[in-house]
Amino acid sequence: MSYTKPLPTLAGHTEDFYGWCKKHELRFQQCTGCGAWRHVPRELCAECGSWDWEWMRSSGRGTVFTWTVAERPLHPAFADAAPYTPIVIAMEEGVRIVSEMVDCPHDQLVIDMPVEVVFDDVTPEITLPKFRRAG
Ligand SMILES: [Zn+2]
Repeated sequence: MSYTKPLPTLAGHTEDFYGWCKKHELRFQQCTGCGAWRHVPRELCAECGSWDWEWMRSSGRGTVFTWTVAERPLHPAFADAAPYTPIVIAMEEGVRIVSEMVDCPHDQLVIDMPVEVVFDDVTPEITLPKFRRAG
């Protein structure tokens, strides 16, 4: 079955981020100047202004920060998926990431609920980080 939803454009640091996902590793940039983590990928540390950073592996653990239930798809590719639930996860490292839950209907979501990353190989090129309830 082919994947028909929009996919990220692989270029620059975004390509690197999804390259780690393809290896089933969730990594974020961490500033080597002050230690601050950041996501989405970018060149400059918003905390200290340093250009120096590394891709550091995330624990993969976080908590539910917020979500919304999209009753009406805002893109034709999501028509069959509606209602669907984009969710914001607060990772242990302090960054937030927009994703989706694989095992939790929206009426069972709770703020601060512990979650962990799972990897969904949606195409041969693209693996999306998604989340499930943490045991
Ligand atoms: Zn910094």
